Amino acid sequence: MRTTQEAPETGTVPEAVGTVPEPDAEGREHVGELTQVDPRTGRVIDRYAVDEPESVRRAVERARAGAVEWAGASTKDRVRHLLAVRDRILDRAEDLVATICASTGKQPAEAVTTELTAVCETIGYYADHAERWLHDQPVHTGSMVHKRAWKRYEPLGVVGVISPWNYPFTLAMTPVVTALIAGNSVVLKPSEVTPAVGEAIRSLFAGQSWPDVVQVVQGGAATGEALVRSGVDKVAFTGSARTGRRVMAAAADSLTPVLLELGGKDPMIVCADADLDRAVQGAVWGSMQNSGQTCMSVERVYVDASVAEEFIDRVVEAVGRIRQDDSGVGDIGSMTFAPQLEVVERHVADARDKGARVLTGGHRLDRPGTWYAPTVLVDVDHGMEVMVEETFGPVLPIMVTGSIDEAVDLANDSRYGLNSSVWSADEAAAAGIAERLESGNVCINDCIVSYAVTGLPFGGVKDSGLGRVHGPEGLREFTNVKSIMATRWRAPREPWWFPIPDRLASVGIKALRLRYGSTWRRRLGRSGPPG
Ligand code: NAD
Repeated sequence: MRTTQEAPETGTVPEAVGTVPEPDAEGREHVGELTQVDPRTGRVIDRYAVDEPESVRRAVERARAGAVEWAGASTKDRVRHLLAVRDRILDRAEDLVATICASTGKQPAEAVTTELTAVCETIGYYADHAERWLHDQPVHTGSMVHKRAWKRYEPLGVVGVISPWNYPFTLAMTPVVTALIAGNSVVLKPSEVTPAVGEAIRSLFAGQSWPDVVQVVQGGAATGEALVRSGVDKVAFTGSARTGRRVMAAAADSLTPVLLELGGKDPMIVCADADLDRAVQGAVWGSMQNSGQTCMSVERVYVDASVAEEFIDRVVEAVGRIRQDDSGVGDIGSMTFAPQLEVVERHVADARDKGARVLTGGHRLDRPGTWYAPTVLVDVDHGMEVMVEETFGPVLPIMVTGSIDEAVDLANDSRYGLNSSVWSADEAAAAGIAERLESGNVCINDCIVSYAVTGLPFGGVKDSGLGRVHGPEGLREFTNVKSIMATRWRAPREPWWFPIPDRLASVGIKALRLRYGSTWRRRLGRSGPPG
């Protein structure tokens, strides 16, 4: 039986750790079977077998066997392999887009830009830079002048990747590709809500040289937990903060390191001098694209009182122009996951009950599938769920603020800190505000798309996660940094070895004064020890 211990944070189907789920109302999870539902219609379009813990263990064994040769290959060879995978993505682009849209309800344009493009870009980015960043790095040895030191970036072994449903291609492929380029093999567990995309990823790697380096296991929480407990060398998890805590707790038993990319409640601060045309369009796109199901969606707006009325009127107008349909050419499609739509309904109802006004939307659409109308709320405050919990739907709550300080305090009044945005004509002032925000990432006069700059490390602070993807930091997340030191010249012994010379203490003090004493530093014109 399913046991619910706490209210789900996002639309996650709660599943008791270590138990097999019983069928749920929508037929998503059955014992031993996953169903792929097309959320645009509510119809089941495919079924997949669930990997039980024993099958997860075998996948990890296969990946470990494949890891040896893969780790021994040069970075150039690994990059070549990933570029061939990118060619396959391009060859199959139409099919991949169709699979992603049928699994998530996205519009094709969204799938192309935020899924295919993001993955192709990441592969290209690391293809260009990985060799340099994985190369041994010399390190200055300070006062140990007779030593030589360097850092070596070694693969970890097998990386377990656990991914969510909102960007089922990008958020699975980004850690998979990065871990591979760093020399690891991977076992991927895609979301149980989008298993069809997991199968598409499996097929991209199937039949290639090094066939064992990517394994895919299907299932929900029990499969995910089995992967965390399987002895993998690192877990790269993307999902809710609630599940992230469970993953970290399970990983703690074996001291398995974790990379956690978790939820967000991203604030948007609109200053009095903001370009309102841009801010209005940014707010609407940032909150509604992918039906608001983006960890970095604009989840709440703080607008300066002097421009609030015009901003709100124009946002409502712009939201009214959003084309929400399944024709394949609109702006947004359906939501992906029925339980998430219930979270959205709960947040909007809670806000209404506590005095918020719904200026547009505020209801699901009367049609099959998982559709919710783009919604704008005003008269909101932090006593409402919609301002403090992740809503993860096409809902934009707008709060009017009297000063920048108030906006910054409210933005920081959150357990999350993933992305945020500041909108002002004065870029220097906006950068000053950005510095005050408790957030892993900040956009100025834009939102969300900092993720698309692959050179920028991406990740959260507070409950939004640990570690980074993208950039050199993201690549090195999947390495063990081995520090190596050697002696430059042969000497029979070091001065501090036994027997310790009787005069070492007094000579040592003289040497300290010579090196660090302020009199000498002044005379030598140095402010500190040489770096
Ligand atoms: P989720 O936490 O419900 O599930 C994520 C993955 O974890 C799924 O594959 C699921 O099967 C697996 N899982 C569930 N229980 C597990 C357990 N006990 N042990 C191991 N694995 C387990 O999240 P979701 O609903 O799929 O995705 C939405 C959430 O993800 C939102 O909170 C969103 O903000 C977050 N997210 C974060 C980022 C980021 O980069 N920071 C990106 C996208 C989504």
